[in-house]
Amino acid sequence: TILVEQTDPELFAAIQAENRRQEEHIELIASENYASPAVLWAQGTQLTNKYAEGYPGKRYYGGCEYVDIAEQLAIDRVKQIFGADAANVQPHCGASANEAVFLAFLKPGDTIMGMSLAEGGHLTHGMPLNMSGKWFNVVSYGLNDKEEIDYDAMERKAHEHKPKLIVAGASAYSLRIDFARFAQVAKDVGAIFMVDMAHYAGLIAAGVYPTPVPHADVVTSTTHKSLRGPRGGFILMKAEHEKAINSAIFPGLQGGPLMHVIAAKAVAFKEALSPEFKTYQQQVAKNAQIVAETLAARGLRIVSGRTESHVMLVDLRAKNITGKEAEAVLGSAHMTINKNAIPNDPEKPMVTSGVRVGTPAMTTRGFKDEEARATANLIADVLDNPRDAATIDAVRAKVHALTSRFPVYR
Ligand code: PLP
Repeated sequence: TILVEQTDPELFAAIQAENRRQEEHIELIASENYASPAVLWAQGTQLTNKYAEGYPGKRYYGGCEYVDIAEQLAIDRVKQIFGADAANVQPHCGASANEAVFLAFLKPGDTIMGMSLAEGGHLTHGMPLNMSGKWFNVVSYGLNDKEEIDYDAMERKAHEHKPKLIVAGASAYSLRIDFARFAQVAKDVGAIFMVDMAHYAGLIAAGVYPTPVPHADVVTSTTHKSLRGPRGGFILMKAEHEKAINSAIFPGLQGGPLMHVIAAKAVAFKEALSPEFKTYQQQVAKNAQIVAETLAARGLRIVSGRTESHVMLVDLRAKNITGKEAEAVLGSAHMTINKNAIPNDPEKPMVTSGVRVGTPAMTTRGFKDEEARATANLIADVLDNPRDAATIDAVRAKVHALTSRFPVYR
């Protein structure tokens, strides 16, 4: 770091400022977390220099004997965590994990079925501007009038359109997903059943959210959300799909794997196998319930009525504020949050009527029941008086009092 400070002071200052932001702000973005110092260390090692196209023991480059060990550790550990037959730890991110599954099983023009982006799904599940939406014929499912996944409608559409692949999984859905029901529908219509568990992976690893692994042909994930690893992706699959998926990642979609990131994945997977990780995930879910109950008590509506995970969507309309404005004012009070469309949102996607709130990051820094409740009350204090500078200043001071008691990286 000393070298960068001298050779590139501009960049050094930006990184220092970001580090300070991460310490001082309460991080409420549901897809973010703080990776451990061990994960950060592994990502900063010389493994970044190594080309290793191929897989352990079958590489297209020499000198791979040590990175082979790292990749095999990552594979073995992630299989152990989730009880999977086979794993690929090379996807550079969640999106490329999903693209690889499509490449393995589909041809352009095939029909796929996924949850609509507007109702909680992810871009890569068939949004029109995404490759998944451009290259495939997309049939979407969504929520019923209780804001729960409309399984009956999903089943009806599956029988009507006979998709080749059905994807379950979401970026903004707080409830448990009935993976067994999806699997049955997929079986009935002869579809590949894929689960994108990116958001829930950490909770699933700890047994705090239902596992899709016994039900799905393939499970994709990111490593950096609730699972608390480096930025990246992985794919779990039934043994019969291992060859197709591995060929789809390399040489199908990617070139050289990021060996430093794969090493950091191995570190994070070992952490996820520890008893402390289970306690952590239980607190993530508990904190989410406390935040949801506290916000509801302060007059905000929680979409779907409750959370059964680490995440919730908050309907802001009772406070006469848009998601865009809420994101900005909460940010000026040093609480980082993202605006998010709510079901049937009357506002445009760049404005929205909601925010998404998640508890993985606050829980990593040590927030328990009391601090989760305090955080929710601070959010509500801002939303009750969003245009009052004195309120924002007072809340920011309370946020700093909290965050300084719970440093992330000591
Ligand atoms: N799948 C889901 C459900 C997600 O929420 C996300 C990220 O937000 C992704 C995939 C994509 O992951 P990445 O940003 O690593 O490509």
